[in-house]
Amino acid sequence: MDFRLTKEEASKKEAFETFFESEMKNAPPQFGSGGLEGVYDTEEGFAFHKYMAGKLAEKGWLSMAWPEQYGGQDASIMEQVIFDEARGYYSAPGVDAFAVSMFAPTLMAGANEEQKVRLLPPIAEGRAFYCQGWSEPDAGSDLASLTTTAVREGDYYIVNGQKTWTTGAHRAEYMFLLARTDLESKRSKGLSVFHLRMGLPGVQVRPLLYMNGKHVYNEVFFNDVKIPAEDLIGVEGEGWALTRQTMNFERSGAGGFSGAKRYLEQMIDYARNTTRNGQPLSKDPNARRKMAEVFIGAEVGKSLAYKIAWMHQKGDFAGLITAASASKLFSTELAQKLANYATEMMGLYGQLEDDPDAPLGGAMSDLYQMCKGATIFAGTNEIQRNLIAWVGLGLPRLKFK
Ligand SMILES: Cc1cc2nc3c(=O)[nH]c(=O)nc-3n(C[C@H](O)[C@H](O)[C@H](O)COP(=O)(O)OP(=O)(O)OC[C@H]3O[C@@H](n4cnc5c(N)ncnc54)[C@H](O)[C@@H]3O)c2cc1C
Repeated sequence: MDFRLTKEEASKKEAFETFFESEMKNAPPQFGSGGLEGVYDTEEGFAFHKYMAGKLAEKGWLSMAWPEQYGGQDASIMEQVIFDEARGYYSAPGVDAFAVSMFAPTLMAGANEEQKVRLLPPIAEGRAFYCQGWSEPDAGSDLASLTTTAVREGDYYIVNGQKTWTTGAHRAEYMFLLARTDLESKRSKGLSVFHLRMGLPGVQVRPLLYMNGKHVYNEVFFNDVKIPAEDLIGVEGEGWALTRQTMNFERSGAGGFSGAKRYLEQMIDYARNTTRNGQPLSKDPNARRKMAEVFIGAEVGKSLAYKIAWMHQKGDFAGLITAASASKLFSTELAQKLANYATEMMGLYGQLEDDPDAPLGGAMSDLYQMCKGATIFAGTNEIQRNLIAWVGLGLPRLKFK
C-alpha cells in the first residue's frame, strides 16, 4: 500500500484545510469544542451547522462522493478520507452524516426515480437535516426485534410506537424510519423504510438529556402518524436489506483520528505551559508516556483509515467490513483514552467545564463525557468485536435465541 498522496490529492487537502481553518473563525461561542453537542445543544450551534452546510454545498463537497448521475463528483474514497481528516481536525460541522452519508446512499440504492429527484437535491444543497429512527427501548443491537408499526390505510401508512436515543431529533426536519409493516412478521422480515416529516401531527419529541445536561438525544413517540404512501422507500417489507446497506455506510466513516491529533496538540501545549511540583508538566515521565501513547494511537488510526480507502479502491469489500469495524472500535476507544489521560493530567481542574479556570476552555471535561456514548452508538464496540471475529478471523458464529 502506498501512503503518499498524489499531486491532485495534496492540493485538495490544502484546499480543505484552508477552507476549514478560515470558516471555523465564524463559530459562535455556543459551538464550544464542537461535536454532536456543539451542533445540537443550542440554537446558535445548529445555526452554525446550517451555515457550514450551505458553504460546503456551494463547493459541492457535501455530495462529492456521490455518483455524477445524482449530482455528485464521483470523488475517490481517498478524497473523502482527506476531506474527513481536515474536517475532523477542525471539529467542523456542516455535514449531516444522517442525511449525506446514510440516507442519501440508501435512496440511491432503493428509492424510485421520483423520490431520488425529490429528496436527493435538498441533501446535496445542505438544506435538509435528518435524524435516524432505528433504535427502540427494547431494540438496539438486536434491531430486528423492533415493534414500531406502520399499517397501510389507503394512501397513508399509520405509524405507532417509540424510538429512543434519536440524535438531533429536536432539530431535524426529517427522519428515516424503520418500522414493521407486516404485523404478523417476526424479526427482520416485514420491516420497511420511510421518509418521515418530523412536523407531522402525532410526532412527539422529548429530550433525553445527557449526563452533562446537554440536549443532543431524544425519545420520539408516534401516535397515529399518517405518512403519505409515496414516502415508503423501496419495497414494502424488504426494509431490512436496505437498512443493512445503510449500516455499512454508517460504519465506513474513516475520519476521527485527526480530531484526536488536534486535541493532543492542545494537551502538549497545556503540558508545556503548566507547572506541576516545580517543573513543567511536559517533563513529567508519566504525562509524556500518556501523550506518546495517544500520538501513536492517532498515527495507527490514520493508517487504518488510509487502509480502508485503499481496500475500497481495490474493491476488497469483504476486508472492508472488518477494517471499518476495527476503525470504529479503535477511534472511539482512543478518544476515551485521550479524555481519561487529559483529565488525569489536569488533576482536579480537569473536572471543570463552564468555568474561567477550566483548562482548554473545558474541552477535555466535555470530551470525557461525550465520548462515552461513542462506544455504544453506530453498533456497540462489542458488536464490532463480534464482526471482526466472525467475518475477519473466521471464528465460529454464536447463535442467539
Ligand atoms: C449517545 C447515543 C446516541 C445514539 N443515537 C442514535 C440515533 O441517532 N438513532 C438510533 O436509531 N439509535 C441511536 N442510538 C442507539 C444505539 O444504536 C443503541 O444504543 C445501540 O445499538 C445499543 O443498543 P441498546 O442500547 O439497546 O443496548 P443493548 O443492545 O441492549 O446492549 C446492551 C449491552 O449488551 C451488549 N450486547 C448486545 N448484544 C450483544 C451480542 N450479540 N454480543 C455481545 N454483546 C452484546 C452490548 O454491546 C451492550 O454492551 C444511540 C445511542 C447512544 C448511546
